[in-house]
Amino acid sequence: MRRRDFLIGAAASLAAFPARAEPPKPFRPDLWPPLTDRAKFVEWMVANRGEDPTYLGRRFDRYKVLLSFNDLWTSADKRAFLFTPREEFVLPEDKENAYVGHYLDIGFGVTITPPGTMGRMTSAIAVRHGDKVLEIGTGSGYQSALLSYLTPRLWTIEIIPQLASRTRGVYDRLIAKGYEEFSTITTKAGDGYYGWPDAAPFDKIIVTCGIDHIPPPLLQQLKPDGVMVIPVGPPGAQHILKVVKKTGAGDETTVARSDIFGGKVIPFVPLTGGHQPGDGAG
Ligand code: SAH
Repeated sequence: MRRRDFLIGAAASLAAFPARAEPPKPFRPDLWPPLTDRAKFVEWMVANRGEDPTYLGRRFDRYKVLLSFNDLWTSADKRAFLFTPREEFVLPEDKENAYVGHYLDIGFGVTITPPGTMGRMTSAIAVRHGDKVLEIGTGSGYQSALLSYLTPRLWTIEIIPQLASRTRGVYDRLIAKGYEEFSTITTKAGDGYYGWPDAAPFDKIIVTCGIDHIPPPLLQQLKPDGVMVIPVGPPGAQHILKVVKKTGAGDETTVARSDIFGGKVIPFVPLTGGHQPGDGAG
């Protein structure tokens, strides 16, 4: 091929993709990418968010799998998954695996939860714009990033101080790059068993580590009619429960529980810390 023809060809193939948005166009609740067509989604995201088409394509493919398992329920849940750059939250050496369907090691002996589990847990708490949401177990930071596309009021606690500060650094770097939505996430290092009394009460609580009971302080910090999702069961064999808090006329609290995976056992990183059974009750 003559050099001139080659150059024209190269320019034409570049033109097939619009210029990358740099920095990303800020997220707003009325900003919607195409939700059904892979090519249109990738093109829209490149133009509006300046992300890499390779990861965008993989994100869309994983999204289709989540849809086939009914892990994303509303358009808002679907959009949140499609907006969240999972490749930014895994270890650098795992970037190519960011969209696999299973757990990945993120250091400090803990893992990032699989995308389908996170998708369904997020859908199950039915986050409305303006809801106050507390997450226990920040880990990689992906779960709260996902939630930031559903509500701008988020608090998250991580018990491993080095991991909490590493993930704070991830958010700060992404905020500086233009992901302003992550500035709605308030982080701290600490034991999430006791919740976050200064920020309570919460509309929704999402616990991303497994424990054999529902921590009473978390139930206390949930608003009446508030919803919590929590992996409950023996180590490595939890059921993910949706817990709805009901307060009766006499101020007594009852809970309605259901298993969001219909009885399937889902292994989780354990909820650690110094709590004893009955801690923080009453
Ligand atoms: N939501 C995470 C999942 C990480 S795995 C993500 O998006 O990647 C669960 C996390 O819970 C781990 O990082 C673990 O250190 C943390 N954890 C365990 N016990 C905790 C506790 N008592 N308080 C806060 N975080 C805890």
